[in-house]
Amino acid sequence: MEKPLIGVVPLWDEKKDSLWMLPGYMEGILQAGGLPLMLPLTAGKEALRQLAGLCAGFLFTGGHDIFPGLYGAEVLPCCGPICEERDAMERTLFSVAVLEQDKSALGICRGIQLFNVLLGGTLYQDLPAQLPGSALSHQQKPPYDRPVHRVKITQGSPLHELLGLDTLEVNSSHHQGIADLAPELVPMARAEDGLIEAVRMKDKTFVWAVQWHPEFAPAEESSRKLFSAFVETCRNAGRSA
Ligand code: MN
Repeated sequence: MEKPLIGVVPLWDEKKDSLWMLPGYMEGILQAGGLPLMLPLTAGKEALRQLAGLCAGFLFTGGHDIFPGLYGAEVLPCCGPICEERDAMERTLFSVAVLEQDKSALGICRGIQLFNVLLGGTLYQDLPAQLPGSALSHQQKPPYDRPVHRVKITQGSPLHELLGLDTLEVNSSHHQGIADLAPELVPMARAEDGLIEAVRMKDKTFVWAVQWHPEFAPAEESSRKLFSAFVETCRNAGRSA
């Protein structure tokens, strides 16, 4: 049986002027039975539409901060480095693949923030600066596969059904987060300071995103289940097509 092809958004290293990839993203998809394919960093609509037709699903990876202008905010000094090329590419890819073709999508870290912004939500540009009441540190030091805070998983959500857990210990390597949630997103998990750490999109086959990093611990049970749920949906979409 052919493995479902899954497009993976490339990471960008401005110092090396290079596209790159963390192996855990590839491993997570491979071990779930998918075939990952790193995409070019292009915002060309026709090229991305063609890739959307080829791939059964897309992994929106972690990375740079999103340009605050995309959610109507000014860039504050606490905002981190941005990557306009990724903003442009992912905006087009999300539009042609997810919105037009209902392709499955999994967002990780920047991915959850991206989905929220593209669907009309806003972000905290820096949690320590803008959510000072939080006692949690969301930006851990290495090793990154180590859980550092807990999330409460929403009862009755598909994530709760998948994991069979009320709470999950997660790693955390983000200084931004969801402020106003986009109307089409539904929370599936929250940190103990109230920050939304997992969402799904309404009325789509599988558009999920998490704020933590399963790719740093791809063999861990919750990571395997998450990648498997994503890849399985991609496989089923291929069957019915
Ligand atoms: Mn966190």
